[in-house]
Order: sequence, then C-alpha cells, then structure tokens
Amino acid sequence: MLCEVISIGDELASGQSLDTNSQWLSARLGEIGVRVVYHTTVADDLDANVEVFRQAAQRSDIVIATGGLGPTADDLTREALARVAGKELVLDETSLRHIMAIFAKRRREMPERNRVQALFPAGSRVISNPEGTAPGIDLDVPRISGGTSRIFALPGVPAEMREMWRQTVAPAIRAMQPGRVIVHRRIKCFGVGESQLEAMLPDLIRRGRVPQVGITVSGATITLRITAEGPTEEECLALIQPTIVLVHQCLGTLAFGEEDDELEHAVVRLLAKHGRTLATVEHGGLLAKWLASVPGGSGQYAGGMVVTAPAAAARLLDVPAESLQPSGQATRQTTEEMATACRRRFQSDYALAMSPLPLQTASAAEPVHVALASDQGVAVESWPLFGHPSIHEQLSAKRALNMLRLKLLA
Ligand code: ATP
Ligand code: MG
Repeated sequence: MLCEVISIGDELASGQSLDTNSQWLSARLGEIGVRVVYHTTVADDLDANVEVFRQAAQRSDIVIATGGLGPTADDLTREALARVAGKELVLDETSLRHIMAIFAKRRREMPERNRVQALFPAGSRVISNPEGTAPGIDLDVPRISGGTSRIFALPGVPAEMREMWRQTVAPAIRAMQPGRVIVHRRIKCFGVGESQLEAMLPDLIRRGRVPQVGITVSGATITLRITAEGPTEEECLALIQPTIVLVHQCLGTLAFGEEDDELEHAVVRLLAKHGRTLATVEHGGLLAKWLASVPGGSGQYAGGMVVTAPAAAARLLDVPAESLQPSGQATRQTTEEMATACRRRFQSDYALAMSPLPLQTASAAEPVHVALASDQGVAVESWPLFGHPSIHEQLSAKRALNMLRLKLLA
C-alpha cells in the first residue's frame, strides 16, 4: 500500500515553522509497513488544497493530512475534502456536543464559528479528538483507475494529531492489511565510517535480502536496521535473530547497543557492571549533558565541570593558565593534567577530559585531545577534526565516550 502525507498551512509553506508532523507520521507508517512515497506541503488556499487532495487520491491508497481543521476562515480542509469527494458538508450532532462540552469544561462560551468543526463531508467517518475541539475526517474517495483512496485528515497540533493516530488511524490502517506484521530491530555502532562498516558485513545491505538490513549514519553513530515481514511478531523475530547474531560476529566491539541506545547509555551500563564511577571536564558541556541524562545513571556519573575561562580552569584544576589561552590549543599534556585533577576532585574511578575544539584553519588542522584518567594512569588520544564544524563537538564527545567504553570492555 502506498501512502502520501500532506501538511497544510501558510506557516509551513512559507517556512515560518517546520513541518514535523510529516516526519513523525512517516516514521509511524513505516513501522506498520506502509510505504510513504510522497510528502506534500500546501498553503491555506482552497484551490491548491483541492488540487493536492485530488492528485494524492489518484496516486496513493492512503492519504494522511494534518492541519486546516480549525474554526477560522483560513481552515479549509473540510471544504476541500467535500469538493474532492463531491459531497455536501453535513452536521454531526455527536461532534457538536463534544465541542460544546469541551468549551463548557473550560468555562468558556463557544464562538459560533466553532460549529463548522462539526461539519463533515456526507458519508465520511468521524475521528474523535479527545484532547481538542477539531475532530478528524476519515473519507473514501473513488479513483479514476478503480477502487478507492482512503483519506485521513487530522488537526495540525502535534499532540492531538499523535493521540488520534494512536487511538484511531493506526488501528484502521492495520485493519486494512490483516495478517501482516512488520518488525524492526536496530543495532547501534560506532568507531568506523559507514562504508568501512558495510564492507565488514557479508552482503547484508543488499536490496531484497530477507530480512532487509538498512544502514544510516547520524553524527558518526551508525544504525543498522533489520526489518522482517510476516504473519506474526514471533515469526518476524525468528527471521531477524540469525541476522543479529551474524552482525555481532562481524562487528565485535563496534556494536555498542540496540534500539534507542547512545554511547552514554552503553558507558553507564558498563560502569554499573564493574561498579565504577566517572567524572568529566570539558569546554562545551556535551559530555555532561549526555551522561547526566541517562536514566538512573547518577550512581555511575559523579558529575562534570564545564570550564570556559582559562583562569577558572587553572584555579579549579591546578593547571597552568597559559596552556589554556583562548587562541590556544590545550596541549596533550594539559588535557592529561586536567583529567588527573578532575579524577582527584570528584574522587571518581575514571575521569574524561576533552580539550577545547581547536580553531580550524586551512593551513593547520590542530587535533583535539581526550584524556582518560584511571587508577592505571592517564591515556591520551589525539585526532584531527574532519567534516563540517557543526558536528565537531559531538564527534569528539562520542570518541571520548568510546575510548572509555573500549577500556571497560578490555
Ligand atoms: P487544527 O489544528 O485546528 O486542525 P490548524 O492545523 O490549521 O488547525 P494551526 O493554527 O495552523 O491549526 O496549527 C496549530 C498548531 O499546530 C500550530 O502551533 C502549528 O504550528 C502546529 N502545526 C500545524 N501543522 C504542523 C506540522 N505539519 N508540523 C508541526 N506543527 C504543525
Ligand atoms: Mg493551519
């Protein structure tokens, strides 16, 4: 089944706000095995909306639209759908009572305009909106080539849209394809480039393989997504399991976790397993932010220092201020001293220190340094920064966490 997602609103078409609904809906549709082939964004313009819905209904089995269901004159989805279906708008008493009850609960008088939210193209089904005033519309539109396209129109407010997806739309779409389940499992990896990692996997990424394996990379973290289709979840998992085993055999310690795991989760898990603690010192604060947000991680992550001014760093960590001048590149040795001092201050088993990100010039690519202090002394790694500057801090912080992860695995 092919699907099209439509976002409606001047604020989206003009670039004032970002269309996150399409992203969210497409991800959910993928999870239940519906392929999204088109995304369309359209302004609050009746003719344009009618045109977009007509086209979508002809080329897609399922259409999901968000926005334009509000009570104001620029909310045109109802009207557009009535035209596309060639039906009148008729009042749904149950929806009207629901809208009136919402206003009564909020102790506000219902403006006359809100009555339009209880109007539906004749023959359509109501998608109830427990949280808000705008019910959604579920409508069949005949196609020229035969059959029908099913259009679901939901409000633009993301929280309401999501709730209505969960309660009504997702079950309705699942019922359209009985006996078919799609299961995904993700393996997270770090430490080599995407193509290098692919080369380590024997023909796994091939299109058409069963189960299908996809590879994506975000900020140097590589995700392998294994997808199986079958009559039941158990059968899908049985299909996926041997591939998971094979991936782990091929990648060894490059694979650090699964599903929503990030490196900080893997590190905190390993620290907990060994009964060890960690502290950090850095210039930007990313390590502290990540580690502090791991649920239940406070037993392992003692805390971190974010030191920006060289004088403050010198005072807090007993390192010479000269080596931390703004122009300047903390040296390997300073980073090493910072890690040692941080470990002492926090009385932790490990301390990670990350040098400020060096300014990159065309002539000289200064490296970033990461030092890991433990009861066995300090290890320092330095690497040149590459890629776009916007990912340098992320990349360095991940490499720092990975350095500790590998030590804990050794
Ligand atoms: P209704 O929500 O009543 O159906 P509407 O979507 O036209 O009508 P708007 O006032 O345009 O109402 O949007 C409501 C809120 O939802 C706004 O904050 C808007 O930015 C947000 N929103 C609308 N569409 C999207 C979208 N595609 N992605 C993310 N946010 C959206
Ligand atoms: Mg709108």
